[in-house]
Amino acid sequence: MNSAEIREKFLKFFESKGHTIVRSSSLVPGNDPTLLFTNSGMVQFKDVFLGTEKRNYVRATSVQRCLRAGGKHNDLENVGYTARHHTFFEMLGNWSFGDYFKHDSLVWAWELLTKVYGLPADKLWATVYETDDEAYDIWHKVIGLPKERIVRIGDNKGAPYASDNFWQMADTGPCGPCSEIFYDHGPDVWGGPPGSPEQDGDRYIEIWNNVFMQFDRQIDPKTGVATLTPLPKQCVDTGMGLERLAAVLQHVHSNYEIDLFQRLIKAAARETNITDLGNNSLKVIADHIRACSFLVVDGVIPGNEGRGYVLRRIIRRALRHGHKLGQTKPFFYKLVKDLVLEMGAAYPELPEAAERVEQVLKQEEERFGETLEHGMKILETALAKTPKKLDGETAFTLYDTFGFPLDLTADICREREVELDEAGFATAMERQKSTARAAGKFKMAAAVEYSGDKTSFVGYDSLAHDAKVL
Ligand code: ATP
Ligand code: MG
Ligand code: MG
Ligand code: MG
Repeated sequence: MNSAEIREKFLKFFESKGHTIVRSSSLVPGNDPTLLFTNSGMVQFKDVFLGTEKRNYVRATSVQRCLRAGGKHNDLENVGYTARHHTFFEMLGNWSFGDYFKHDSLVWAWELLTKVYGLPADKLWATVYETDDEAYDIWHKVIGLPKERIVRIGDNKGAPYASDNFWQMADTGPCGPCSEIFYDHGPDVWGGPPGSPEQDGDRYIEIWNNVFMQFDRQIDPKTGVATLTPLPKQCVDTGMGLERLAAVLQHVHSNYEIDLFQRLIKAAARETNITDLGNNSLKVIADHIRACSFLVVDGVIPGNEGRGYVLRRIIRRALRHGHKLGQTKPFFYKLVKDLVLEMGAAYPELPEAAERVEQVLKQEEERFGETLEHGMKILETALAKTPKKLDGETAFTLYDTFGFPLDLTADICREREVELDEAGFATAMERQKSTARAAGKFKMAAAVEYSGDKTSFVGYDSLAHDAKVL
């Protein structure tokens, strides 16, 4: 079953259960300035859950383009390392706004997976929140899933309601337990069942999350104690990764082996003259062309802060992988045409914007191409001297003079099992700021993230506000 059929079957199934089909919204959330990117299907419905917006339907279904790179959900560092994480992916979802609840949600999920998609029931597992007997009983007594394959998952130690199986919109507000459905890819792949220490492996892969918004969480301002009170209208919010489901349905283990990705990988191989289609860099490039193209479609352009800097970082990571494969000329933008062939029908906004996407990517490739080449030489020279550690000064020079975002340098170090001196980087950054400050050229805004304390380096995301233009 190809990706197009998977999308259509999902939407048709929920339409037959009274859901209104809603189009994917933009990767740039229209209703939430605090959120960097749309990272799940529910984002466009947030105000409906909060009760501040009314729609003329109480059941909805969609296929939502999502991005998890930067911000609270960040899977950028997983790309190229797991079989199941992308920066850009599509989420199949269904929602109840104060209408049906746990029973229908789980029973329909099971019906869709086993009857419509035809998945073998004995390969499916479910998790429920530790105390959620209601969901447990639906899985066991109504659906008939054996107890051995239903796992109760509680809170992480010392953190109340901080669990993979307890969802909350924010520190306060709607929240509730969730029930995740896993598929067992079999003993050839390393990994343990949900809830076990080996869950992080790629054997048991989470395909679908059913969130039950059941409570309103409030925190007593005096004591800091959280209380949960039942919501007047209970809601359902589900999300299933299209690429993970496609992998199961196409009998492959990794998302990168599905039809859509294989063709993108072939295109990346064509543009980099690589014959080994299993090369990891090709996967990363295939992932990144989707993220970058759709970001441009949705109005983001490469820049030095916020969303624009996330886009720039992803493009530059892709270019670095191209460079690693020996491609020093612009190539990335040429994959846009292939992407249009793969995804243009599902997302008509992509072919409409394709020419602009190509231009934007090409320009960024030309801008970074030369400094990438020089920067890599400097990095190699430094590593020739100290093969186990990249010093902070060099990392800072790469960042400041050659336009290497710190996460790009970190990615190279990780790949080569080299330690990156982040503290040294922060020190070099701070020193430059003091110099600039003394020279009166320093913009106050840029100082915020580093707070003047050399040890308080707060991570790559903070750099999103503070990168140099090249
Ligand atoms: P995981 O634990 O595997 O990181 P998650 O619990 O973070 O997934 P959810 O937030 O529950 O994921 O999102 C709902 C569904 O979206 C997941 O069950 C999965 O199928 C899919 N999904 C989540 N993150 C990604 C990703 N980075 N790439 C591809 N699919 C994803
Ligand atoms: Mg995750
Ligand atoms: Mg999970
Ligand atoms: Mg989940």
